[in-house]
Amino acid sequence: MDASSPQLVDRFGRRVDYVRLSVTDRCDFRCVYCMAEDMHFVPRAEVLSLEELYRLGKAFTQLGVKKIRLTGGEPLVRHNVMHLVEQLGQLPGLEELTLSTNGSQLERMSGALHKAGVRRINISLDSLKPDKFKRITRTGDLGKVLAGIDAAIATGFERIKLNAVILKGRNEEEIMDLVDYAVEKGLDISFIEEMPLGLIDDHDRALSFCSSDEVRAIIEQRYPLTDTSESTGGPSHYYRLTGSDSRIGFISPHSHNFCHLCNRVRVTVEGRLLLCLGNEHSVDLRSLLRDENTSPDDLSQALIAAMDLKPEKHHFDLDAEPDIVRFMNMTGG
Ligand code: SAM
Repeated sequence: MDASSPQLVDRFGRRVDYVRLSVTDRCDFRCVYCMAEDMHFVPRAEVLSLEELYRLGKAFTQLGVKKIRLTGGEPLVRHNVMHLVEQLGQLPGLEELTLSTNGSQLERMSGALHKAGVRRINISLDSLKPDKFKRITRTGDLGKVLAGIDAAIATGFERIKLNAVILKGRNEEEIMDLVDYAVEKGLDISFIEEMPLGLIDDHDRALSFCSSDEVRAIIEQRYPLTDTSESTGGPSHYYRLTGSDSRIGFISPHSHNFCHLCNRVRVTVEGRLLLCLGNEHSVDLRSLLRDENTSPDDLSQALIAAMDLKPEKHHFDLDAEPDIVRFMNMTGG
């Protein structure tokens, strides 16, 4: 099959060339907007093996996928994940292998990730105050994450982006500190609007919601922002800061719907191909992968056929009970 000919196109003419693979639903953090305090994780037998994940990555790239992001849960806590990273990093046609991480393992792993071909990474960081960081992540150690960020900088990744979910009453007063930190370290930073995924009891999402426009207005009190059309292939809308290389991104699933530009699909930790983060349309790839009669061509045909299920857009309603009961750690961000 010719890898340069796009095969994954949905009913709305959107070409899918970006896949997010959730390699584990487990995480060493329990961020309040992402998980419940007491989580039940998927039994190991139901989680895709590293070999199954690799077969999927290969099938996708043969269908024209150019970018794979490993996510979770925390991808770097999966046993032997580096084996998968190394294998995926060698797939012909794959232009970018990247990952989202909470940073806790980067001190020991960033060198190996770079060696395996990872050039850009996203690191979540919602607070620069140890006690607040602990309250948001429930179990996280800020010092370890900041050391991980420094290790990633020293490793020489081409681009490092911080991701911050801003919640009113939690960390909105840290917006400027986070921007200053990103600028000082020469990193990009994206601010994410909280999405109603999974039933959480920590806070009322409607009350804590902080829109991208509110975050931007706060930043603009100090830094003039210049709108850009730059894209890193994801949903962030970027602004440039005068006199700095850092870019400020906004991921606004509520206030600025970006579905018309969607080029992504996700594979959940149990091998469900999820066509949209905000809908339940999905295809069970695990059964296919585990059926010995499935040929590589059958798998490709299933991926192509699945594109017809991709919905036009998501609908998030913060005042209602979440429609989507899966937590973000199942799906990967
Ligand atoms: N553990 C990795 C990390 O921390 O980046 C990868 C998985 S995490 C689920 C990916 C991203 O999703 C993080 O930036 C996290 O802040 C974000 N996230 C989790 N739950 C969210 C929610 N309900 N709304 C918006 N973003 C969320």
